[in-house]
Amino acid sequence: MRRTEILDWLREERPGELCRLWKTANRVRRENVGSGVHLRGLIEFSNRCRRSCSYCGIRSPNRKIARYRMCADEIQDCAGAAVRRGFGTVVLQSGEDPELSAEWMADLILGIKAETKLSVTLSLGERTKEELALWRRAGADRYLLRFETSNPRLYKRFHPSLPGRDSDRLALLAVLRTLGYETGSGILVGLPGQTHADLARDIDLFGRLDLDMIGLGPYIPHPDTPLGKSWKECCAPPDRQVPNTEEMTYKVLALARLICPRANIPVTTAVATLNRSAGFELGLSRGANVIMPNVTPMTYRRMYAIYPGKACAFENHDSAGEKLRYRIQNEGRFVGRGRGDSPNYAHRTRSKAVREAVL
Ligand code: SAM
Repeated sequence: MRRTEILDWLREERPGELCRLWKTANRVRRENVGSGVHLRGLIEFSNRCRRSCSYCGIRSPNRKIARYRMCADEIQDCAGAAVRRGFGTVVLQSGEDPELSAEWMADLILGIKAETKLSVTLSLGERTKEELALWRRAGADRYLLRFETSNPRLYKRFHPSLPGRDSDRLALLAVLRTLGYETGSGILVGLPGQTHADLARDIDLFGRLDLDMIGLGPYIPHPDTPLGKSWKECCAPPDRQVPNTEEMTYKVLALARLICPRANIPVTTAVATLNRSAGFELGLSRGANVIMPNVTPMTYRRMYAIYPGKACAFENHDSAGEKLRYRIQNEGRFVGRGRGDSPNYAHRTRSKAVREAVL
């Protein structure tokens, strides 16, 4: 799909045409990744962060939240809970925690791998090539690192670099790829100043990066962040600014499915936060095939407040789990079995092996 066509879809508002987009994305999802919905147990194990991303509630300068880092035993318990609930993957997510030692993390991955058959996804922010390599050797399977926006001016404005270290997420994604991780990235939809042309470039980039996983969600203003206090003033003129709405997020999700047919694409918590009663269903019927139920203990979950009103922050995960299965089946879908590896990754590694054998 050409970028101009993506742009036309982003500006499309006619219900009949949008219905055509949803149906096409749903068909492409079914033909390429099937009807299983893979559940990933999300463990938000540390909200400590050295970064100052201007929209994020766990940014380092925010003194209004209590900070925590779960110990290895607590994290292992959560992994055990994920197994008991039938999940094939755990996602270990944290702020960019400066005191998270590479060795501690490697031991944790080794421990989870020794005790379970879970696939391990990491989402720990920007780390060195050596750390990423160590964790891959310890058994980590996947890494999620959103590039957030492909507009360099906007990226710089909202993501101050650490002193002496440029933030280059695209370069890190290339490193993750060479280390053999299933590689995931994604964006925020409706960042103040983000135009439709920016967003079309983001979606086009999903395809050029040949992503195995794509995570995206609406920007949700957090009142205790600089951007949350002034986001309206930072917006582009109304005809150019991408709205941070549910509908715009589904458009991006559906287009991501068309551009990367074999990628694993979740309906994220941010989408469910905008529409608690039907966000999962709408996302699943418009291109998504993954949901990431939160298995973090309640006390910590509330402190991982990247934006206000996060769906899952006050729900007991056991009853939420039952309900979730029911909601998935109600959509004519079923809970995927096993690890739910990315068909895109399998396809790419197979093609590479064939190419090498021929050479
Ligand atoms: N530290 C890791 C990293 O930087 O990739 C993972 C944690 S970070 C909090 C996870 C994601 O939360 C970010 O990639 C960002 O897109 C999202 N996020 C942060 N603040 C948000 C907000 N106010 N609204 C919506 N999403 C937000």
